[in-house]
Amino acid sequence: MLEIVPIPALTGTYDNYIWVVHDGTHAIVVDPGDAAPVLAYLQAQRLALSAILVTHRHGDHINGIPKLLEVYNTRVYGPRSELIPTVTHHIGEGDSVDIAELGLHFDILHLPGHLPEHIVYVGNGMLFCGDMLFGCACGKMFVGTPQEFHHSLQRLAALPDEIKVYCAHEYTESNIRFALLCEPSNVALQQRQRDTIALRQQDLPTLPSTIALEKATNPFMRCNQPEIIANVMRHFELTAPPADEAAVFAALRAWRDRF
Ligand SMILES: [Zn+2]
Repeated sequence: MLEIVPIPALTGTYDNYIWVVHDGTHAIVVDPGDAAPVLAYLQAQRLALSAILVTHRHGDHINGIPKLLEVYNTRVYGPRSELIPTVTHHIGEGDSVDIAELGLHFDILHLPGHLPEHIVYVGNGMLFCGDMLFGCACGKMFVGTPQEFHHSLQRLAALPDEIKVYCAHEYTESNIRFALLCEPSNVALQQRQRDTIALRQQDLPTLPSTIALEKATNPFMRCNQPEIIANVMRHFELTAPPADEAAVFAALRAWRDRF
């Protein structure tokens, strides 16, 4: 029986979750931005580290890797980037990763938009999406175009509804406040806000979500919705709708960046 556990890290600054998947003996960790809480968890649970999975180069996703490698001689899967020298197994679109110890198989999607090298891991009903997708939002567009970011999110929207989405940050509550500005009459979004507030009041994670829930509530995956387009036009005082969905995405991203 697999357990999937969020280890809070960099709390108060980036509010990361480092996801650990384990069966009581073997474990993998995803995007370890800090080593100490991961080491503490692995040692307390007496777990052997089988692999580290990396989505992109940002420090809050990789800074813990060197210390983990001092303790565990393990494989590190990640994208081709000279800025992640700790990666031992370079992977990209169309590749897959097998973790025999845990019976896990992940397919790799290359999804640019947040950063050019960003990859995500899909398999076994799970999506480890790094900073491509957050609960009810998406990552910042650091080095990318709205067209490629929108296309990447559309690829995630095409995944099966029931796939669980393991985001790397606990940003859902504020993301929902922004989403409600874009689409106030979305009933599923209103319900998600109530559920999210209840979870946070108990100090519980709002994640994982699902592809279905993101498609129903995440404005960045709903760029074709008339209410969202109307509110983008109102916010930016546009006299005509944005040219296409990617332009709606660009407007939403710019609005969110200043929210
Ligand atoms: Zn990032």
